[in-house]
Amino acid sequence: MPIDRRIFLRTGLAAGAVLGLGAPALLGQAKPRVVVIGGGAGGATAARYIAKDSQGAIAVTLVEENERYQTCFHSNLYLGGFKAYDEIVHGYDALQKNHGVTLARARATQIDRDKKEVVLASGQRLPYDRLVVSPGIDLKYDSVPGWSQAAEEQMPHGWKPGRQTQLVKQRLDAVPNGGVIVMIAPPNPFRCPPGPYERASMFAHALKKAGKGEARIIILDPKESFSKQGVFQADWEKRYPGMIEWLGPKVHDGIKSVDPKTNTVVTGFETYKDCAFVNVIPGQMAGEIARSAGLAPAGGYCAIDPASMKSTADPAIFVLGDACIAGDMPKSAFSANSQAKVAAMVIRHELTNSRAFPARYVNTCWSLVDTDNAIKVGGRYEPKDGKIGATETFVSQPGESDALRKETQAENLGWYAGITADMFS
Ligand SMILES: Cc1cc2nc3c(=O)[nH]c(=O)nc-3n(C[C@H](O)[C@H](O)[C@H](O)COP(=O)(O)OP(=O)(O)OC[C@H]3O[C@@H](n4cnc5c(N)ncnc54)[C@H](O)[C@@H]3O)c2cc1C
Repeated sequence: MPIDRRIFLRTGLAAGAVLGLGAPALLGQAKPRVVVIGGGAGGATAARYIAKDSQGAIAVTLVEENERYQTCFHSNLYLGGFKAYDEIVHGYDALQKNHGVTLARARATQIDRDKKEVVLASGQRLPYDRLVVSPGIDLKYDSVPGWSQAAEEQMPHGWKPGRQTQLVKQRLDAVPNGGVIVMIAPPNPFRCPPGPYERASMFAHALKKAGKGEARIIILDPKESFSKQGVFQADWEKRYPGMIEWLGPKVHDGIKSVDPKTNTVVTGFETYKDCAFVNVIPGQMAGEIARSAGLAPAGGYCAIDPASMKSTADPAIFVLGDACIAGDMPKSAFSANSQAKVAAMVIRHELTNSRAFPARYVNTCWSLVDTDNAIKVGGRYEPKDGKIGATETFVSQPGESDALRKETQAENLGWYAGITADMFS
């Protein structure tokens, strides 16, 4: 199912929402207020669609702590030398100018669910009729023995954007020919299931291109298997022979410790000393604001109603993207964007009585493996048995033609242009 920018936008516009609600409670009242926490794939899309489609009938405030959004999606292409850093950075100006979204450049520190107010770091309170929460993930700094927040400089994760992405690039560039990179992959559920393996491909590509084909990348995985495994491994064998080694938990017997001072990783079976670069990608959980508001259990993610993206803990709050439990949908920017359109439609229906449609979701995760060579996995989804369930899935196959892989990469680039326009234009 090739998806180019036009089709991507069209499916987005067609995605609707199921309601089962009575007459909108707020008709006839002064402009209803929607606050959105998090200006990423979920939050920026929701803010844009609610403001754009309600044509001024709803006051939308987007709370985002960073001035610019740096996408984790396609950060692996930056690491591989396929994109400049500037190409993965976006601003919020058009959301304000084109759609009248009010931007609150601040950290949200509390959600007062009783008063229906978001509290900002300054102490300012933003009242809401509906709240969208899309804060992404937080890292579990205690999930790898010996690693900590203090160690994220020396052993960067690159799983949150900005400085971390650039640190990973610096470490990669400094790897000598013959050097060993150890990547510690995260346990499920985590942001971007194919991400670590696309990243390993990009590491190998960049090293090979720099004449460092003797370098090795060892992936220590707590999982028995990973996304698109058969396709990735066949391609690694063909394109980067001897460079990437994946070890599952039965082979390495667990990560016993890491030492950031000496760049050492100890597993049940082996000690990797003097590594050129250790990339620790730790366990993950819903962003702090969602957990502290009681929308997720400690260390976990937020349960939602699959027909509306409403939190099961609070019908005035919608949780999108990586922070929510989205059934068969992976934690991806595409998923967050698709969920945002369902939530936007439900919110507009509830606040302005606009039409609503049954919830339908889509996702594709592309991964670049080598120049002009991408693979993909994805599907269509709808509410099923109390969760978001897959109704159709597809995945690339090992041994596909170069022409098909090139076409898949063209879709990948078209998708990035489409989704960033869908979030920020
Ligand atoms: C290496 C890598 C590669 C990836 N590649 C892809 C890909 O190819 N395709 C794909 O679809 N996905 C990809 N992803 C996944 C994608 O980046 C995430 O799934 C997506 O960003 C989730 O969107 P979100 O809205 O949940 O969170 P985010 O996009 O992380 O947005 C959250 C926003 O909330 C803000 N925020 C958080 N808390 C607060 C607060 N309290 N107050 C104010 N602001 C706050 C943050 O600053 C941030 O801007 C990749 C991820 C990684 C790490």
